Amino acid sequence: MPNDLLSYSQMPPPLELPTIQNWSCHNCGGCCRQHAIEITAEERSRILSQDWGTDANIPRDLPLVVRAGVFPWSKRYRLGHQPDGACVFLDERGLCRIHAKFGEPAKPLACRIYPYAFHPAGKKITVSLRFSCPSVAANRGRSVAQQRDELKLLERLVVPDGAEKIPPPEISAGQRLDWNDTLSIVGRLDNLIATGAGGVALRLIRALKLVELIGQARFEKIRGPRLDEFLEIVSTAALGEAPADLADIPEPGRVGRMQFRLLCAQYARRDTFAEQNAGWRNRWTLFRAALRFTRGTGNVPALQPAFTEVPFADLEQPFGPLTPEIDEMLIRYLRVKLQGLHFCGRAYYNVPLIEGFQSLALVVPVVMWLARWLAAGQGRKQLVVDDALRALNIADHHHGYSPAFGHGGFRGRVRLLARLDDISKLAAWYSR
Ligand code: SF4
Repeated sequence: MPNDLLSYSQMPPPLELPTIQNWSCHNCGGCCRQHAIEITAEERSRILSQDWGTDANIPRDLPLVVRAGVFPWSKRYRLGHQPDGACVFLDERGLCRIHAKFGEPAKPLACRIYPYAFHPAGKKITVSLRFSCPSVAANRGRSVAQQRDELKLLERLVVPDGAEKIPPPEISAGQRLDWNDTLSIVGRLDNLIATGAGGVALRLIRALKLVELIGQARFEKIRGPRLDEFLEIVSTAALGEAPADLADIPEPGRVGRMQFRLLCAQYARRDTFAEQNAGWRNRWTLFRAALRFTRGTGNVPALQPAFTEVPFADLEQPFGPLTPEIDEMLIRYLRVKLQGLHFCGRAYYNVPLIEGFQSLALVVPVVMWLARWLAAGQGRKQLVVDDALRALNIADHHHGYSPAFGHGGFRGRVRLLARLDDISKLAAWYSR
């Protein structure tokens, strides 16, 4: 039994699992190429004591562990990388050498948890998944519900004792409800995404209408049963006010389109360790690319090898309605993030629930835009499931994890698009 388990003074809180989701690792090695893995002091000592110096498969000149962050006096450490950005322990078959030699528990905790994420939710812990993993996006593998025992073991390692004291996220700036009421709002949003006529875009538009109405309320006296009544009224209003047909929704405006392109550029960037360390030349290239995204004319700069240069104008043409498979994937994505509280509060830059939902909603048109870019790069004017799947892997790699997404520039862009009422318009525009 790992020592960490002994720190629990009581039974861990019950787990709330996204039972609509399946996942098993298919050893693509993607996560070991995309992420910089920060490790604890204990993990660092353990790895350095594993005698890798005699392992002929680890290149001699590569450090196993390096300082994390930009300062040479940093006390944080991360796993070393190979020149192409892959983890130093990733072998040529896409497998982890630590796992192969010492077993799964010997790996750093961050590697053991991925693609799961655990978030405190009052008396329980919600579980979400990262769709940067292709197997998660494709819903491949065992049902998450069948993995409860393994997840309970991981929960004991990652959730701190006393997590029930962690406060719920704000609903909007300065307004906070208790956990039960906060989860009631999340449940209403999940219900709107899960049910009702139309595909993901129409359901999202109804949910956006609901958060708009909730955002206008003051909650001093609306709590408990009164909140339930209030939610019933605004949910009915949202269903009545939201358009019933995507064709009834106007095009996004000029300012909104420009802000959206810049948002897409942030999602499309590749920021593996190798890219981050490419220095000023890389930053100059990104600056010039940002100018082209601002103008939105000519060709879209290929920000990473997955993309090729195609005219911006090509991505604004209709690509046909979304297929049922793409619809299902995006609905599942939104629901897993909602149920797992993976869109606001501690899981998302401490952003209030309403802003976090608007940010999450924007992932849908971003994915459709990136998917069009991938399809257009292959000369196609129609999407296939694989376009949307790869686009979702790329977008979710950053969402909630790229430090830039928590900064004022990114958050201001989301708030501006919400104020212009362009999030719904973008979702409709890129679903046609
Ligand atoms: S990205 Fe997903 S499928 Fe690929 S190695 Fe990582 S966990 Fe496994």
